[in-house]
Amino acid sequence: MKEMIRVEKLNKSFGDLHVLKDIDLTVNESDVMCLVGASGSGKSTLLRCLNFLEIKDNGKVIFEGKQIEPKKDNLNEVRQQVGMVFQHFNLFPHKTVLENVIEAPIMVKKIEKKQAIEEGKELLDKVGLGDKYDVYPAKLSGGQKQRVAIARALAMKPKIMLFDEPTSALDPELVGEVLETMKKLAKEGMTMIVVTHEMGFAKEVADYTVYMHDGRIVERGPSNELFDNPKEQRTKDFLSKVL
Ligand code: ADP
Ligand code: MG
Repeated sequence: MKEMIRVEKLNKSFGDLHVLKDIDLTVNESDVMCLVGASGSGKSTLLRCLNFLEIKDNGKVIFEGKQIEPKKDNLNEVRQQVGMVFQHFNLFPHKTVLENVIEAPIMVKKIEKKQAIEEGKELLDKVGLGDKYDVYPAKLSGGQKQRVAIARALAMKPKIMLFDEPTSALDPELVGEVLETMKKLAKEGMTMIVVTHEMGFAKEVADYTVYMHDGRIVERGPSNELFDNPKEQRTKDFLSKVL
């Protein structure tokens, strides 16, 4: 089992607000981990620290066995290996679906356009948008836009994908198609950390689920165990509200 990402005693504050408290976390290759917890518990901040969109105050972030030092290491290089999908898709409105997907590989990775197009089309086929290459985002449903965003993140060939509430902004009838796409990725062996309120998805797809409350990891375990037999009272209270 190869370790992909490990966090040790990670702390992060915004001013006086201590948002992440002594977080320890390990994700191995091909693991799918769901991160659940109430709004404000620090889930997004944790993901952002893993992608170095936020810089921890102290503690360690270790990527493939190498401790990343924000002052010394090239964070752009690390970020390229960590794909991220947000609640809001942020597609370029004046670019077609395919152009959105090939933009970063060409601009950032300097991939030849012909190759980027080939790979971009493959990814769009994979997320079920093989008939939408030349369409502009405004013509897509929210679920389709989010699947473009997933293809766009995958186009950088990340080693791990972070999802921050990828279905929270979607109409209920569009949630399923995005979850199905994520499930397919998980089955293919992608390493994933998913912040979600979709407890059914967490239970079915995630190997592990982590419950966060007030900046701390309260409980973690194989998803079945955490959902069916939570040990901590706070986890029980949370689950009784969301299940
Ligand atoms: P979650 O994703 O679990 O809802 P967040 O990580 O977004 O939680 O936020 C955790 C806490 O940190 C919240 O109280 C939020 O208001 C605060 N916070 C998040 N980002 C910032 C920021 N850039 N500046 C100040 N406070 C922030
Ligand atoms: Mg959040």
